[in-house]
Amino acid sequence: MVKQGVIPDELTKPFWDAANDGRLVIQNCTACNRLQHPPAPACGQCGSKDNLEWKGMSGRGKIYNYGVVYDCPIRLLQDDQPFNLAVIMLDEDPGIQMYSHLPGTPVDEVPVGASVEVLFEATANGQKVPEWRVVG
Ligand SMILES: [Zn+2]
Repeated sequence: MVKQGVIPDELTKPFWDAANDGRLVIQNCTACNRLQHPPAPACGQCGSKDNLEWKGMSGRGKIYNYGVVYDCPIRLLQDDQPFNLAVIMLDEDPGIQMYSHLPGTPVDEVPVGASVEVLFEATANGQKVPEWRVVG
């Protein structure tokens, strides 16, 4: 499915640039040793703006739960309805969660708890976005 293009802003640009390079990076506070996503201008725990870095992730995670979308307001996605919408927990920190349509997994046959790995799909404007697929 071709997804709506993403327009990076100053804050999120490193995340999207890394996605275009096929890498998953997450904002990390080196003072707290704490990951946070989505990115923010300051650490949500200590408030520091000066200790934030972009940390490379393994690209591995697990499926926390999922839903099936039958009536999506985003026009580009309507042709593909119904589709899976799963919540992925990163192996590095289960508190860091991302959504996925789980390409390759049939609708409503999502194996909750299964391992997944990241891949990167181009959207309508060429920007790549992280997606996840179940690994055996
Ligand atoms: Zn911090």
